[in-house]
Amino acid sequence: MNIPFLSFSETHSQVKSDILEQFEKFYDSNSYVLAENTFEFEKEYAYFNKVNYCIGVSNGLDALHLSLKALNIGRGDEVLVPSNTYIATVLAISYVGATPVFVEPKQETFNIDPSLIESSISSKTKAIMPVHLYGQSCEMTEIMQIANKYGLHIVEDNAQSQGATYNSTMTGAFGVVNATSFYPTKNLGALGEAGAVTTNDSVIKEKILALRNYGSREKYVNEIIGYNNRIDECQAAFLRIKLRKLNEWTGNRQSIANLYDKNLQDIEEIKIPQIAPNATSVYHLYVIKTLQRDKLKDYLLSKGIGTAIHYPIPPHLQSAYTNLNFKKGDFPIAEELADTSLSLPLYIGMTELQIKYIVDNIRSFFEKYKD
Ligand SMILES: *Cc1c(COP(=O)(O)O)cnc(C)c1O
Repeated sequence: MNIPFLSFSETHSQVKSDILEQFEKFYDSNSYVLAENTFEFEKEYAYFNKVNYCIGVSNGLDALHLSLKALNIGRGDEVLVPSNTYIATVLAISYVGATPVFVEPKQETFNIDPSLIESSISSKTKAIMPVHLYGQSCEMTEIMQIANKYGLHIVEDNAQSQGATYNSTMTGAFGVVNATSFYPTKNLGALGEAGAVTTNDSVIKEKILALRNYGSREKYVNEIIGYNNRIDECQAAFLRIKLRKLNEWTGNRQSIANLYDKNLQDIEEIKIPQIAPNATSVYHLYVIKTLQRDKLKDYLLSKGIGTAIHYPIPPHLQSAYTNLNFKKGDFPIAEELADTSLSLPLYIGMTELQIKYIVDNIRSFFEKYKD
């Protein structure tokens, strides 16, 4: 059997005829930037995310950057961010000239540990950026309480978790301003680059609208120094079609994850993802942990099973961040996750037979290499 780590074939075949029809309309519309599809998608995504406003932008990193910009976070400010996040969250902090302050995650959930946040707060701290990693919501009640106590902003990185909830509130709706990504592999993926900012605050909304469009809300009137971070009209058209499928696809992801859970939980040598009380996961990724990660990865590959590592090097050990002067050992939990995590195949269209083949092979690996 050959099982790639990721495949678009099922989702794409489900929406292909709609996408092509929409593309033809878009092609003939003669309106290619900030037109009907963008405005309709923004309304539809805001409705989906249960927020007042969604502003479509060029990608997830730009959404994060504009979110921090809209809060006037900059040089001299500190922003708390998990030590095991994808690099983009940290890059956005660097873009505005602020300093990332890393907070370790919980081993079991991979998400920022609320009990470690308070001791990382200084007089320079302006914001906390919870990253809902692998599709699971962070523990938002605890995080919001700390933010309120210290007067800090929350800026969620919701790139991996569209549709996840904490205490029934959707991720991307907690922070004063939040970012998401529609990179093709995300749960809601474009056919190219796209992202969005979500907010309930009308002042922030107006700011982001200006920032994404040269600092201008009225043509040729520039209020601030902005960017060209507009969402592509054609991607917005495609996203509208895929958004209609998102809840169903999320259900498929959750069923696959449940099957993995059921079949892997008794294997002592691996740790399966734990969902925090009151949190849900939309399973952007299914990530297990094992001390024999590299060997297991090679073994599965030899059986035709693709896997991936999210992420092999934590931000504080990247050469891009040597200026922060961190060394190996500074964030041991993030480092351990980088050394032991393995993402198993998870995509719409996987069959029970394929999942059985994967778990059977994981089982036979550990029988073969029992210490
Ligand atoms: C994908 C991702 C981003 C960046 O999104 P792009 O659209 O690729 O710029 C940011 N944060 C997280 C957690 C991501 O997974």
